[in-house]
Amino acid sequence: MDRFTESIYTLIVETSTNLPDDVRRAIARAKLTEEMGTRASLALSTIGENIIMAQDDQAPICQDTGMPTFFVRCPVGANQIEMARQIREAVVAATREGKLRPNSVDSVTGKNSGNNLGPGTPVIHFEQWEKDEIEVKLLLKGGGCENKNIQYSLPTELEGLGRAGRDLDGVRKCILHAVYQAQGQGCSAGFLGVAIGGDRTTGYEAAKEQLLRRVDDVNPDPRLAELEAYIMENANRLDIGTMGFGGRVTLLGCKIGAINRLPASFFVSVAYNCWAFRRLGVIIDPATGGITQWLYRDGGELPELGAAEGIAGSEGSRRVVLRAPVSEEQIRELKVGDVVIIDGLIHTGRDALHKYLMDHDSPVDLRGGILYHCGPVMLQDEKGEWHVKAAGPTTSSREEPYQADIIKKFGIRAVIGKGGMGPKTLAGLKEFGAVYLNAIGGAAQYYARCVKKVEGVDFLEFGIPEAMWHLQVEGFAAIVTMDAHGNSLHAEVQQRSLAKLAEFADPVFV
Ligand code: SF4
Repeated sequence: MDRFTESIYTLIVETSTNLPDDVRRAIARAKLTEEMGTRASLALSTIGENIIMAQDDQAPICQDTGMPTFFVRCPVGANQIEMARQIREAVVAATREGKLRPNSVDSVTGKNSGNNLGPGTPVIHFEQWEKDEIEVKLLLKGGGCENKNIQYSLPTELEGLGRAGRDLDGVRKCILHAVYQAQGQGCSAGFLGVAIGGDRTTGYEAAKEQLLRRVDDVNPDPRLAELEAYIMENANRLDIGTMGFGGRVTLLGCKIGAINRLPASFFVSVAYNCWAFRRLGVIIDPATGGITQWLYRDGGELPELGAAEGIAGSEGSRRVVLRAPVSEEQIRELKVGDVVIIDGLIHTGRDALHKYLMDHDSPVDLRGGILYHCGPVMLQDEKGEWHVKAAGPTTSSREEPYQADIIKKFGIRAVIGKGGMGPKTLAGLKEFGAVYLNAIGGAAQYYARCVKKVEGVDFLEFGIPEAMWHLQVEGFAAIVTMDAHGNSLHAEVQQRSLAKLAEFADPVFV
């Protein structure tokens, strides 16, 4: 491996496994803000524990290692073709070593390239600058939060907030609305990068670039600095909280920039990033290819993130142990808020499997079974045995069109995921006697350690994340957020946050 390739490989590994200092501080502050024993506090403790585990094991913080997006600034005359080649080589190596999940999927055939290379993957932005050093920043932003990005074209009408006009107050409303619409699905608490202006493409690009700012910096434009402070204070009053469980902290950072626009267009583009805000950077000496400096690492004292009270150890809630096959009676006893500890067999399944199961049989008996919305990072050893490298939940709402039918068809009793599901699933849970369990989004190491054995796999042809993995788990903790009695914590938090959102309808920035 060339020295430059090695430097990029190191940057990828560190970004995937070791959260930057400013992000850790923001999460530590959130932990102190939430009241001990609340669901949000339990979730934040698990997140803290997961961050430490990932760092200790040099393993992905979250199983979704996202779209590798590089921002390179290089001296005039630097060979960008060669740099891009070496970046791709480093991406392949990091994927092979299980530091990145194979995430590049052919949009027409659905085939996963297996090495994170393909048209449009990875993303590499080059820019020349006057300095004689190379700066490389890397953002690993997962699909769950990417799906919660949103773009507004002003003027517009916004649910709960009314008309958003073509001014700073309209922008204010868009940003509050962006936080509301994300609920917990982008693995809140989150960070926002916002761009005012541009066109539809450059607006989103500029929004992502705002995510490269440090969490603790101050916007040089006083009007935008004021808006950022306003959003931080008021978005956190929406009571969406970590994972959408309700709570005082919904937003961990908000950075706003502006670029010029066409007279006819007024876009506000919002890039939502989950708590697993993986972005780091390095300065590289072009003569040697070696790293001379790390960015977003201050070397100061890092906050305590270890779990004082992770969700498995929660005392405030009722704790129930489940082992498949689970009976209907056991399920009907569960209520929203109960902490469930799962021991025994679970099966992973996400988009490809749900679509498949609608028209085909399952390769294993799922009666009384537990289905886990998860696309893990897996590595196979020389003996052919599979090992789980990261295994947190994926966003469940994508399975909403299928889930109730699949619960009915196969007699599934529990579905684990994150972000909750909609009314069709809620009705299905009630009718067929099943529950939805919210695991802590992004806690991929925490849950990987619960897997004691990989029993087998089906549909490997769907790609590693989409395959159906059969896993023996122990002490796998999640919270009942939708029960078999028609109750949904997600629906309740959404309604409450909508009422609070409406309190921000009057103009503030006039
Ligand atoms: S923490 Fe959540 S939103 Fe972020 S990458 Fe992981 S699963 Fe996706």
